[in-house]
Amino acid sequence: MSRRDGVWKDECGVVGVWNHPQASRMAYLSLYAIQHRGQESAGIVTLEQGGHRIQKGLGLVAEVFDDTTLDQLKGRAGIGHVRYSTTGMNQMANAQPLQASLSNGPVAIAHNGNIVNANVIREELKAQGSIFQGTNDTECILHLIARHPSPNLVECLQQSLAKLQGAYSLTVLSHEALFAIRDPQGFRPLVIGKIPTAEGAAWVVASETCAFDLIGAQFVREVEPGEIWWVDAQGEHSVRIPRQAARSSCVFEHVYFARPDSIVFGQSVYESRKKAGRILAREFVKSGVADCDVVIPVPDSGVPAALGFAEEAKRPFELGIIRNHYIGRTFIQPHQAIRDFGVKIKLNPQSAVLSGRRVVVIDDSLVRGTTSKKIISLVRQAGAREVHLRIAAPPTIGPCYYGVDTPEKSQLIAATHSLEQIRDFVGADTLEFLSLNGLMEAVRGEKGGYCAACFDGRYPTPLFGLDEQPKGNVRGLE
Ligand code: SF4
Repeated sequence: MSRRDGVWKDECGVVGVWNHPQASRMAYLSLYAIQHRGQESAGIVTLEQGGHRIQKGLGLVAEVFDDTTLDQLKGRAGIGHVRYSTTGMNQMANAQPLQASLSNGPVAIAHNGNIVNANVIREELKAQGSIFQGTNDTECILHLIARHPSPNLVECLQQSLAKLQGAYSLTVLSHEALFAIRDPQGFRPLVIGKIPTAEGAAWVVASETCAFDLIGAQFVREVEPGEIWWVDAQGEHSVRIPRQAARSSCVFEHVYFARPDSIVFGQSVYESRKKAGRILAREFVKSGVADCDVVIPVPDSGVPAALGFAEEAKRPFELGIIRNHYIGRTFIQPHQAIRDFGVKIKLNPQSAVLSGRRVVVIDDSLVRGTTSKKIISLVRQAGAREVHLRIAAPPTIGPCYYGVDTPEKSQLIAATHSLEQIRDFVGADTLEFLSLNGLMEAVRGEKGGYCAACFDGRYPTPLFGLDEQPKGNVRGLE
């Protein structure tokens, strides 16, 4: 992947199913549960009699599949993918899973994350004669596997993946096995579950545990960073990718990206968000905000943190802004004009809750500041006497190169403005952010080891020139 080529790898979700009589429907439901991880394309590949069947398309999961297509996806195993793509990159060639017919059989692959040295590998492969169909970095993985001389797919995967740097959580389907693989730093989540069936246990894999809740699977464990796990007719197996690296799981999964009903990196996302709100209240309880009349969340992502804040500050929690749930997330709209319109039709402040009150507004994060500005304006229009904005994450000061599509640095308001300038821009009476230490306390799982580079600028890999390329004005995470 190279931003020089105008190529992006964005937020995605992956799933896998093994030994289930309704494999395509299990994959479909799992993708449905993780639709928040990507809304522009969806795909499923199943395995039937040693060959692959595929259906993928642009749009939401429910738009790409119907009863007929799911019936055609025969077989007891499958993988699936949902993808967000940027403006101009909304191409079928980039929709996943990707498939190839290799010397050791058919291989399909679904990828969540961003490989930071893909531009280097891609150029090397092109120089050696490889032809690329699309513009995503996942194709590099397929080419590396294809060129490896070993007839053993596990060995091909081990040696190929050791060349990659950055984020990859993969599901891979061969003609005889389902693989679940995480990069050695464990940037993106990936979990393994089991479904008891009349014919023995079925295995399932997904980006988030919320998929398991929907399909009635029991959580078994997360795929370990650097682990190649697979299941075949002989049972489950595991080997390591031969590359050592310190764990760097994405803290932003807990801040915003993952569903609150998921367990991510061994910890409840809901609990970590609520705890972030509690710590936020503790950090700033002396700032006078404890004297507020009401605590309201920016729905829906600010709700758990606002609950934690209100409990800790002992102030009433109210739904002061009502969200229209029948439009997509504001940030998935690719054009600024549509985003602006989206905020107005999406969020409606309640004057019954806000009029004459001193209001604390809690949001999960602040990226460009434009959405916060509109929300605060709406809250004031509804009659609020004071508006205090509290953010349950530190200021976002840098873009992500590992699969979350934050805007370029120049569009990150905290990268270019002081706290007072941001407060003035958004129009709040006061503004505070959760400290980095506070965030780390909120998400501290047993295993630790988080990437927080978009908050502290300490990127846990070399960037291979990606930081020298401007990121397009693709979207705001607000
Ligand atoms: S830079 Fe931010 S969004 Fe990207 S992996 Fe690190 S914490 Fe996550």
